Amino acid sequence: MALQEPPPAGASSWKDVDEWRPEGACYQSEQWYHWYPELAPSSSVAVQWKRDAIETCLQCSVILLCSQYAEQTKQVAGIWAGNVRTGSLYKNRIQESVEADKEEGS
Ligand code: SF4
Repeated sequence: MALQEPPPAGASSWKDVDEWRPEGACYQSEQWYHWYPELAPSSSVAVQWKRDAIETCLQCSVILLCSQYAEQTKQVAGIWAGNVRTGSLYKNRIQESVEADKEEGS
């Protein structure tokens, strides 16, 4: 796996997120909600989602870019680059997406 290097410190390339994010394993996963374990229906499911997401992150070719992006943009929810971020800023919006996916799948 060839890791994609983040830009040098001070470079303002975060607007290029649309270029690297589609290459992220989470972006390509049908279980993208595993990166938001706070939405899991139970604590045991949350643990499983976290484990799956973190293991996947550790195999992701854009983990370095992702890590730096998460720090720079102060992400407060979900799992980024294998790190669990806490917060609920986007919880309602994400919850709506999860529920919409469930309805589509039923
Ligand atoms: S490192 Fe993890 S959160 Fe970041 S893009 Fe890859 S799979 Fe997604």
